[in-house]
Amino acid sequence: MSTTDLIDTVELSENVSIDNEQDQSMDHNEEEQTQQEQYQFDVIVIGSGPGGYTSAIRCAQLGKSVAIIERDLLGGHAVNWGCIPLNAMIASARFIRLIHESVRYGINISSHRIDYLRIARHRDEVVKKARSQIKKFLEKYHIQVYTGVANIIDKNHIIIKPIQKYTYINVYDADGRNPYETDDYIPIRADIEISGKNIIIASGIEYNFPNFVETNDTKTIDPTQLLWHKNIPDSLIIIGGGVLGCEFASLYRHLRSNIILIEKNSRLLKFMDEQVSFAVETRLKDIGVEIILNAYVERVSKGEVIIQLQQTNTKRTLLSSLVVICTGRKSTFDYENLQNLGINIDQEHSTIIINENTCQTSIPTIYACGGVVSSCWSWIPCVIHQGYLAANRISEYEDNSKSYIPINLVTPFVINVIPAVASVGEVPKLTDDVLIYTFKFQSNQRAIIDNQTWGFIKMWTTREEPKKFLAVQLVHEAAAEIIEYYSMIISLNIPLREICLLPFAHPTYTESVKEACEYVLGQSMNYEGTYLN
Ligand SMILES: Cc1cc2nc3c(=O)[nH]c(=O)nc-3n(C[C@H](O)[C@H](O)[C@H](O)COP(=O)(O)OP(=O)(O)OC[C@H]3O[C@@H](n4cnc5c(N)ncnc54)[C@H](O)[C@@H]3O)c2cc1C
Repeated sequence: MSTTDLIDTVELSENVSIDNEQDQSMDHNEEEQTQQEQYQFDVIVIGSGPGGYTSAIRCAQLGKSVAIIERDLLGGHAVNWGCIPLNAMIASARFIRLIHESVRYGINISSHRIDYLRIARHRDEVVKKARSQIKKFLEKYHIQVYTGVANIIDKNHIIIKPIQKYTYINVYDADGRNPYETDDYIPIRADIEISGKNIIIASGIEYNFPNFVETNDTKTIDPTQLLWHKNIPDSLIIIGGGVLGCEFASLYRHLRSNIILIEKNSRLLKFMDEQVSFAVETRLKDIGVEIILNAYVERVSKGEVIIQLQQTNTKRTLLSSLVVICTGRKSTFDYENLQNLGINIDQEHSTIIINENTCQTSIPTIYACGGVVSSCWSWIPCVIHQGYLAANRISEYEDNSKSYIPINLVTPFVINVIPAVASVGEVPKLTDDVLIYTFKFQSNQRAIIDNQTWGFIKMWTTREEPKKFLAVQLVHEAAAEIIEYYSMIISLNIPLREICLLPFAHPTYTESVKEACEYVLGQSMNYEGTYLN
């Protein structure tokens, strides 16, 4: 090799080396840029419950890059610990009820056995399916999932911290395992900072034990720990006669627990119509639930509950294998931090205040939806609707205006006692402008065929013509399905007379909607009814 060659080679190699440095620095820059891009999103959603996954998927469908942060299992409280497992177990309770009634249908089932292992397996499978559906859709829309705890640091930035402890302890799947031991749950190991043009807080609420509960008492549990308990308790005291209290009383009584249900008010489900409350109370008593009303709980400790009875001003001590607390929820967020950031908080309810139409908080880049929000009823349809609104707004989706209905007025909800209770609309104050009617299922042909005539539809309508529904509450085995029709009628502002012109399949429970309208308009062909004012 000649000197020139050598020099050339050196120069070349220097050149090469310079080029390499340039390349490397370009690579490095590119890498950094890609890394930065990896941590920059159009939208970051905190929480993967119905509010979180709805808003995340909707944003992605509208072309946004989205990250979702969840400190628990995908699907949030609703899918893993609340609505879905509870309703999976209620499916078994419904079946037990049918077995009890089977003789009326000409089928003699002389004996049956409750197999909790299988009930729990069914619950586990339903939850897993629901969770994997959500996972599939998050993947389909390339939504980046971080399993960790989100801390908002400013209007666009979040630090995700590793999880220090499980959200729920003492929960067991059918085989006695910890439900967190699943491939779906891979927590991050170190802090990650990400940024988003917009943030949606959908972090829900969590249980909060009142002061009368002794701490670290393994016999006092929350609704999730009851649903994921190792067995069916022989006896159970339920504190709180609201939605969860009544649902648990109905479910666990069907599973043969001895139940005492304690409520401080003079009736169960105090936010519902009195006639509906009374129907639920009667039904629970019929199946053997002991209900104690007007009772203040003084202390709960190791299965012992001391109550003060308001009417007699006496104390009573009750004992059971387990006590479940169905009162009290608290926020999931560090509200002081949110307040310091400038987000307006509803102090009384410890919830976030939003603009109803947009779901924006007082910081325009930060949105909130679901249980964490003051105006949300914490019923899933309302939660989902808010998630949808937030996503549409962020994505400037043109058709948003149609969604701006006062959602609480038309959100239907179901209380899954057996038979179920459902409601839609805000019950109006009694004035001369309001009429009330009750339609009983005794004349509906499907109900007669199925032996399900117990129950009624209570309707509040305008006196003014054309008559319209203001609110509807119903108690019936098929309430959950029927209520949707009333929700649509109220949402779409349809006069009753137009419902009477629609054909309904026969014989069906949903025909009762038309039959009830006919009755209100004095056109009934099968029901004489009860007119209440
Ligand atoms: C037992 C039970 C049964 C129910 N049944 C029904 C029913 O039949 N029908 C109905 O309509 N409603 C039902 N509900 C109410 C329903 O579950 C709630 O309305 C719903 O879960 C609220 O949804 P969400 O998205 O706001 O919050 P959630 O479902 O609570 O999800 C919020 C998620 O955010 C996560 N999170 C919180 N903070 C952070 C953080 N800092 N970082 C990361 N993640 C965080 C939480 O871990 C959670 O997974 C039931 C509730 C319970 C308790």
